[in-house]
Amino acid sequence: MFARVEPLTTTRRLSGPFDYKADGLALVKGSIVRIPFGHQQLDGVVVDTTEATDVPEEKLQAPTSVRDDTVPEDLVDLANWIAEEYCSTPARALAIVTPPPGKAKTHFYAEPTGEPGKLTDKQRELLQRLPGPAGKDLQALRRLEARGLVKISERSERRTPRTNAVEDRVHDLTPPQIDALAAIDAGGSHLLHGVTGSGKTEVYLRAAQACLARGEGVIVLVPEIALTPQTVARFQARFGDTVALLHSALSEGERYDEWRRLRTSEARIAVGPRSAVFAPVENLGLIVLDEEHDASYKQDGDPRYDARHVAAYRAYQSGARLVAGSATPRPETVHTMHRLRLPARVETKKPLVFQDDPAPPGVHVGGVTPRTTLTPRRADGLPPVRILDMRESQHSLHPETRRAILGTRKSIVLLNRRGWSNFLSCKTCGKAWECPRCDVALVLHRAQHEIACHHCGHKERVPKRCDACGSLAVARHGAGTERVEHELRGILDVPIFRLDADTTQTKDAVPELLARFHQAPTGLLLGTQMVAKGHDFPDVTLGVVLDADSTLRFPDFRAEERTFALIAQLAGRAGRGPKGGRVLVQTRSPDAPAIVSAANHDSDGFLKEELARRKAHEYPPFADLIRVITSATDPEPARAAAAAIAEQIKVPETQLLGPAPLFRLRDRERFQLVLKTHERSAAIHATGRAVEDAARTKAFKEVNFSVDVDPV
Ligand code: ADP
Ligand code: ZN
Ligand code: ZN
Repeated sequence: MFARVEPLTTTRRLSGPFDYKADGLALVKGSIVRIPFGHQQLDGVVVDTTEATDVPEEKLQAPTSVRDDTVPEDLVDLANWIAEEYCSTPARALAIVTPPPGKAKTHFYAEPTGEPGKLTDKQRELLQRLPGPAGKDLQALRRLEARGLVKISERSERRTPRTNAVEDRVHDLTPPQIDALAAIDAGGSHLLHGVTGSGKTEVYLRAAQACLARGEGVIVLVPEIALTPQTVARFQARFGDTVALLHSALSEGERYDEWRRLRTSEARIAVGPRSAVFAPVENLGLIVLDEEHDASYKQDGDPRYDARHVAAYRAYQSGARLVAGSATPRPETVHTMHRLRLPARVETKKPLVFQDDPAPPGVHVGGVTPRTTLTPRRADGLPPVRILDMRESQHSLHPETRRAILGTRKSIVLLNRRGWSNFLSCKTCGKAWECPRCDVALVLHRAQHEIACHHCGHKERVPKRCDACGSLAVARHGAGTERVEHELRGILDVPIFRLDADTTQTKDAVPELLARFHQAPTGLLLGTQMVAKGHDFPDVTLGVVLDADSTLRFPDFRAEERTFALIAQLAGRAGRGPKGGRVLVQTRSPDAPAIVSAANHDSDGFLKEELARRKAHEYPPFADLIRVITSATDPEPARAAAAAIAEQIKVPETQLLGPAPLFRLRDRERFQLVLKTHERSAAIHATGRAVEDAARTKAFKEVNFSVDVDPV
């Protein structure tokens, strides 16, 4: 018997698999082995076993060791598919499906057998405390074991991830929930489209329960555990230890144990972010993709997989059901999946008006009087949204926003830009401060006394004077979360909780900050898009979006989709409690369709218009995109490599755009080539080959290549 082994290396130059002797080793497809390879030892995965090989006997070697854990066969197949689909290599794809490092933690456990025997007082005492862990009495217990009085076995000890408990509330489903559940349970893939609070999670829980009852396993994908603790907690509250949690903030031991519990089917539900799509769940019955619009489902490094696409393939491969849920689904999902609707928030049996809170005691009113307004509540339970035109404004807060914030006990303010101001310039000569390694402006972070590049992390001290002309007049343009926090502190006495990458650098910072805001009787949560993700704060009655068009200004076909989702998601956080709520949206593009539809909670209108626009411009889902980026310290080889790739790609029904220069990043000049294709697999294949050829070309030795299929 021989084993075909794929060595786990990141280089593109090796193309395996390679044959090894398997005699006497219990090797199967999915075994993880250590192999001699040239002069080195490498880890590898057995991708196949065979009876014959072309390698001459004297050249054949055997693996030097075999790991106890194996990769399930279907995940080996999935990795092969990923390698092709994302123009990666089998080795890189296999590396993401192998178990996490580590091994089980065990201890000795002793039980009395009940056999009679002569005992000393000490031994009698010892027997009395059994059954239990042997601990430091192991030596003494071994002697009793030899006499048949005690049985000692090795038990593994679970390292349990810490989670926050919630109470499980089981509800009778509403008629739309019943219909959705029936459709999901019948099989296939479905989009569950419903506003925040419409009961989607309850449907996932029921669908999962039905799978467990049939002996099937479940995978639940969530955007980021830290930002969606409630979904995780609700699965744990309902299903207990049957739930395994997979995410990067676990300790190595915890991660290993959770993986192992799934592999042995001790746990049947895997919950985690995108990489949990590779959870070793046997007899898979359901994959849930919560908040399917979230950009974190796309992997940044090679293989640049999209967990949503992988989930769809895995569901197809195993015959599992797939349900993707969102209040703001992506146009492509609406176009390609069967849609189930949950039309309204579940709990809407409340009066159709709400009242602003009186100003909390101690608030500086600063010339404006907090007012009390009555606004009709919508029939679907969603808060009314007002667009505030900022075209004429010099300030970061509209007077109405100011008034509303002053008059509210608990509010959320979203500004999708961190730092103090977005760029600095010299008032005398016009010099703008840019990153020396990237062609982008440096952002001022006042608390750290530095200006920083948000692309490469470069930092320097805040300039006191212009190094070009010596002028002392340095202007600060724009406002980020740090500056708005400072401004708000000047007018507001309620605690301000700032949530952005600068305030949450430690592992537990996000959940801690959210918990503090949750418990505070008054407060304002201010931050980047992190504030618009899955939390549920029933007492928040005001949501504010500052500079709502910041996402619209990106030159990207997803700009509209992102802008709509950000506003609609924030609106979903406000007014969930009995007091209702409202939302204010500050923008310099008050007529932009994405903003207007979001303000009207009109996702159907938005999707219809957006799909028409995409169809006219042949964007996904009406064509597939593949992006190739070449980079090098000098522009010429990077450009030439991109041109060589473009030259080689000849696929029907495919448009080639570029090569076009991208801004310099981390000291590397970059060029981009985009394929817009109606022949997806042919285009992927051709791109993969062209990139491989270019990577092997001597002249492009210094060039880096990255291929992104379905870029987001
Ligand atoms: P979503 O996932 O769409 O945001 P959830 O499933 O979290 O919605 O439901 C919102 C709230 O309504 C939760 O507190 C949930 O416990 C409750 N809920 C869900 N379904 C029902 C129901 N059928 N009857 C009463 N309450 C429900
Ligand atoms: Zn100057
Ligand atoms: Zn930089």
